[in-house]
Amino acid sequence: MTADLHIHSEYPLQAYNTLSVPAYAEQYCEITADKQWPLLLDFLRKQAHLPLLFLGGGSNLILPKQVPGLVVKIATQGKNILSETESEIVIRFAAGENWHDTVMWSVKNQYCGIENLALIPGSIGAAPIQNIGAYGVELMDCCVQVEGYELSNGVLRTLSKHACAFAYRDSIFKHTLKDRFVITHVTLAFKKWVNPQSYNFQTDYPALKQYLAESDEKNLRPQDIANAVIAIRNSKLPDPATIPNAGSFFKNPIVDSHTYRHIKQLYPDLVAYPVANKQYKLAAGWLLDKAGWKGKLVEGIAMHKDQALVLTNPNKCEGRKIIEFAQQVQLDIKTRFGVLLEIEPRSYL
Ligand code: FAD
Ligand code: NAP
Repeated sequence: MTADLHIHSEYPLQAYNTLSVPAYAEQYCEITADKQWPLLLDFLRKQAHLPLLFLGGGSNLILPKQVPGLVVKIATQGKNILSETESEIVIRFAAGENWHDTVMWSVKNQYCGIENLALIPGSIGAAPIQNIGAYGVELMDCCVQVEGYELSNGVLRTLSKHACAFAYRDSIFKHTLKDRFVITHVTLAFKKWVNPQSYNFQTDYPALKQYLAESDEKNLRPQDIANAVIAIRNSKLPDPATIPNAGSFFKNPIVDSHTYRHIKQLYPDLVAYPVANKQYKLAAGWLLDKAGWKGKLVEGIAMHKDQALVLTNPNKCEGRKIIEFAQQVQLDIKTRFGVLLEIEPRSYL
């Protein structure tokens, strides 16, 4: 049975995480076909209490030097149409499909819904975990359901969008189902672009609006939005292949109106957006920039020079160093603004 899973020992993971943290998995295997899921679940049942880490594209995690137990790389591929009308198409994707390739495939086919999420690294299977979002669009906007196995009993479950409890960079998979569920498939519903009136693209974010100002806004197609997002992101975000990073390292903090007003009084140029329940979302990048962290290098780790929210690891330091640096940043921001920045990638340290 283990032969079918090809379990390796002391497997190097530096090339499998976008922060390029040097790390080894005690044991490692890849799931490339759905028929391997029962083999994996059987293996886990026989090895009760074995620490387990599922790996997609490794773009939203921080690894320790030695990862105990079994690391399972999810590499399943495939998509199939569940239903189709003149105006909508519903497609089920295997968890190992690449997210950005899926966006490019959808826009090429004139399917609308995820064009604003172009160039987000990682896998389809990880997308529901933090309800990936960018430029005013979130996965939950087109997610129909998520399928996977409950790890404690090997039961295959289908969770409706509602059951996923999606919220801002959040879902049930970070709470009740954290480390208890493996996502095997994600189903998305797309609107078909049939004419310029068929879809209202989300173009409110200032950078996107500005980029598209030159275009004929009445004749936009999904490919135009994806191209704009790609160009904007390439102009300010470091490519992990060149400068190791995990995207935004801290979540934008949501604060009450009292805290917002207090900070705004002290810093009138504060960048913040009203959200539900009379709360405000503060731009964490602005807080970091104001506090002088933009471009600041400390022992081989830095917040990026063009986007203060992106922690970079140019010297490929180990995960422990990254966490120590992040704690310095958190303490400084808490002292200056009274706001705790929460780390966005999942830390296994
Ligand atoms: P991994 O890093 O491999 O895994 C992340 C977590 O999910 C881990 O805890 C892992 O165990 C778990 N996991 C992964 N797959 C499964 C599965 N199938 N079942 C159960 N658990 C699983 N995020 C945004 O929201 N918006 C952005 O705009 C954005 N931009 C980014 C830009 C850059 C340059 C980078 C490096 C990252 C960015 N991210 C962004 C973060 C990241 O790309 C997303 O969170 C992405 O969904 C992570 O996918 P992954 O496959 O790499 O997950
Ligand atoms: P930006 O456009 O410079 O905006 C700065 C911040 O202001 C963002 O964090 C964004 O919040 C918020 N914002 C801007 N316009 C807004 C509006 N009209 N309504 C509500 N909030 C608004 O941000 P950026 O750093 O260049 O990133 C662009 C987009 O890509 C953002 O949506 C960002 O979340 C996403 N991104 C995410 C990651 C990641 O790893 N999570 C990495 C890179 C980029 P939101 O972040 O809530 O959108």
